[in-house]
Amino acid sequence: MTAAASTIPDPRLAFARIGARGRERPHLRAGGSLHDLSALTPDITGAWLAAGGMTEAVEAWRAGALPVSTSSAERWGAPVATPGKIVCVGLNYRDHAEETGAALPSEPVVFMKDPSTIIGPFDDIHIPRASVKTDWEVELGVVIGAEARYLSSPASAASHIAGYVVSHDVSEREFQLERGGQWDKGKSCETFNPLGPWLVPASEVPDPQELALRLSVNGAVRQSGSTSRMIFDVAHVIWYLSQFMVLRPGDLINTGTPAGVAMGLPDQPYLRPGDVVELSIDGLGTARQTVVDAPLGEGDR
Ligand code: ZN
Repeated sequence: MTAAASTIPDPRLAFARIGARGRERPHLRAGGSLHDLSALTPDITGAWLAAGGMTEAVEAWRAGALPVSTSSAERWGAPVATPGKIVCVGLNYRDHAEETGAALPSEPVVFMKDPSTIIGPFDDIHIPRASVKTDWEVELGVVIGAEARYLSSPASAASHIAGYVVSHDVSEREFQLERGGQWDKGKSCETFNPLGPWLVPASEVPDPQELALRLSVNGAVRQSGSTSRMIFDVAHVIWYLSQFMVLRPGDLINTGTPAGVAMGLPDQPYLRPGDVVELSIDGLGTARQTVVDAPLGEGDR
């Protein structure tokens, strides 16, 4: 077993939402401190991103117009408001496709995930009722910044990307693969998409295909990959998806996970209550979630 994942430095310039669930306030990290953006916008939404909000916020910070915030001790929310959709690419790393026994895809494998699965980067992950195979997946998340419809080529994808984020595509393998139908049942359970802590503007990420991503469980490194190993790169994925659906500002694209998920390990050490999962991507920050049992349902009362 390799050493514990190390926490990587916070990004130089990035956006976050801090506060109780449903009452998160927008923030900008710049110059080594956090600044409250509430005077500029009530929230970090797709509409705000599409209207150039990030640039406006940075200009306000440069002008000294943003108060320094002391909110960092509060709860961190996902760094964008709940999107209209989450689109995921499956089997997008050769080593992960191989560990699952799946054939390498000739076109991107696409599935949807319920947007209400998004939680904050340090919130608890619930093991769903009757789950025996809850699994982890660290992924580079792409947040759309401008409507993308029938893009003419992958080269035009970049201008439609607002930024990048650490995304956790939590997956229940039995629901996904052994219970019939499409993958969605194993992907849309409550709390199954921790996101953040930071939304890093695309302008701060020189090459999204040169990012190391890693995930550890209880300090043991399970995934350690690089976005350079994607089968279909970010630009290709955005172009490809735009041939089938309209990508709208604020939408989240999960771009696939490298090898090292529980399903692919010899002892299949699926998540259990009490486990702590830590995820990091170079330049995007570190997230950490504790795994707990799902709360009681309506039939339990
Ligand atoms: Zn995934």
